[in-house]
This record gives sequence, C-alpha cells and structure tokens, in this order.
Amino acid sequence: MTNFIYQEQKWQSQMSDLITSPTELLELLNLSEQDLLSGALLASEQFKLRVPRAFVSKMQIGNPLDPLLLQVLPHHLELEEHIEFITDPLGEEQANQLPGVLHKYQSRFLLTLTGACAIHCRYCFRRHFPYQENLPKNDDWLNIRDYLLSKPHINEVILSGGDPLTLSNRKLALWLERLESLNQIQILRIHSRVPVTISERLDEALVSLLKNSRLRIILVVHSNHPAELDDLTCRRLANLVQQDILVLNQSVLLKGVNDSAEILAELSHRLFQARVMPYYLHVLDKVKGAQHFDLEANKIDQIYTEVLATLPGYLVPKLVREIAGEQNKTPLYGVTIF
Ligand code: SF4
Repeated sequence: MTNFIYQEQKWQSQMSDLITSPTELLELLNLSEQDLLSGALLASEQFKLRVPRAFVSKMQIGNPLDPLLLQVLPHHLELEEHIEFITDPLGEEQANQLPGVLHKYQSRFLLTLTGACAIHCRYCFRRHFPYQENLPKNDDWLNIRDYLLSKPHINEVILSGGDPLTLSNRKLALWLERLESLNQIQILRIHSRVPVTISERLDEALVSLLKNSRLRIILVVHSNHPAELDDLTCRRLANLVQQDILVLNQSVLLKGVNDSAEILAELSHRLFQARVMPYYLHVLDKVKGAQHFDLEANKIDQIYTEVLATLPGYLVPKLVREIAGEQNKTPLYGVTIF
C-alpha cells in the first residue's frame, strides 16, 4: 500500500490548511465506501473532523481500517447512547477553579490556554469540554497568579489540551515569562499531540524559546501508534532531547488502533529511537462518543501482560486509569481495579 504525498510546509500554513471534510479525507485515501461517509458526516456534526495533511500522509491509501484513520474519522457508533459514557468522565467541572485552570493534583496545576487542537481525536476525554467559556483572558493572569501564590506547594504547571503548541510562540513566551516570575514554579510540562501531527512545529524558534527558559521543561507527546512516528518526526523529537528537554510519551489504549502487544512494543522501540521515553498507557476514559474504542478488562490485562514479557522495563509505559476526584492516576497492573 502507498501513502498520500504531501509537501512539507511551515506549521502555521498547515494549521490553516487542515482537512475538515470527511468527503475530502476519504477521497485523498481513495476510499469511497458509502457507509463510512454517511456515518462520518452524521457524527462530525457533533465533533468536527480536523486533521493535518502531514498526519494523513502517514495513513495507508485504500485501507479503511488504517489505525491513524480510525483515530480521526467520525463514526456513526459515536451517536449511540451508553449509560457509562458521559460528557465529563473525569469530573473536570469540579476541578475548574478559574477560567483556564484545572487543579486536580496537589503539586501540579493545569492551564488550558486554548481550545484549539491541530487534530480532533475521536476518543478525546475533553471532546465536550466548554472551552469557550473557560479560556483565560489577559487580565485573568492576576487571579491565576494569586491562586498560585496561595498554594505554595504547587511547583509544576502543566499546559494541557486544547493543544498548547497550537499557540503562537509570542503567546507561549508571554505565559512562560509570567510563570517564570513566580519562584515557586520550577517545572513546566507541555502536553501536546502537535509533535506527531505537525512535526514542523518543533522548529528552531520553539526549541530556542524552551531551552532558554529558567523552568525545567518536560514535553509529553501523545502518540498511539508507531506509524505516527516517521523518520522526520523522530529526528525532530531527538533534536529536542539533544537540547536538554525531557521528552516523554503517553498513549491511549484503543480498540482497533493499538490493541496488541506487538504494536505497543513497536511503538516503544520507535519512541526510543527518537530518544523519547514511554510514560503512560491510559485506559480509555469513558467519554460519550468514544465507546467503540473501549476494550474488555481481561483483554487489557492480556495485552499488558504480554507487553511486560516482551519489553525491557525501561520501555514499558505505566498502565493507568484516571478516576474523577482521585489525587493521582491509578496504576492498573497488579491491583484489582477492573
Ligand atoms: S486535546 Fe489532545 S486528545 Fe483531545 S482532541 Fe486535542 S489533541 Fe486530541
């Protein structure tokens, strides 16, 4: 099978040229199945299709079960109601202290500075999050600063999704400067899917911004499948590590996408080639519209047992579930949690 050819462009041009039409996406991949298209059109009315051309170029032409395509193509099963699958599975409404602020963990504090993402992942636990009502405005910084000062045990800020690397460097620099002005903040963690969807974002300007910060920067990329990590993406990730930025990866275990020990082992090896360390393997959050990615508990157990047997310990991501209201991610292997 072959891939769709795309010309490399600046990341800003890619952001303004995202594919948002299921018809166009299926045509690019030479897929014309009517049932795929009608399901996609219906489901995309609720959560729009959004995918960069660079990411599409990593999909196989003519393969309706391509694991990258399955992560972004709307599906009619998203419209089915399931009692366990809800709009706010992690109880984030409770943790939303101020616009843009989610305080879930003792020493860490999440900032959502944008509702925009380069890609819409169909399994996203924030697919129903009311970003527009929640984005911090310029003068909200003073309230955020006061909140941080009132909690001196917070030493780490996490920029979370919407995707912080869709922001301009100017805006990122402004927030870096604000956070650097508080002595208590030592670590800035950036969670982003942009490095594997538009790897051009990891350009010299961004690297220079991050490496010149007083804060210890950790980039947590989000890759679910080894096909997302082509040579160019790996080289750009490795370059960040060479500049003394710690790069980790988190994945979500998804039915039909990466539900085998073989794929997960290949993903870990590929990450290691890119000098990225596997960090978390998340069990799916039960968000409304993502039920078709869910796996049975015994299947998860079987896959993870095989992963443990296959990989050296340093390449095994921690299998975890996030439970609303808990102070930390809950480890799943070796405990009776299912
Ligand atoms: S927040 Fe992350 S997982 Fe959710 S749609 Fe955006 S990139 Fe995907």
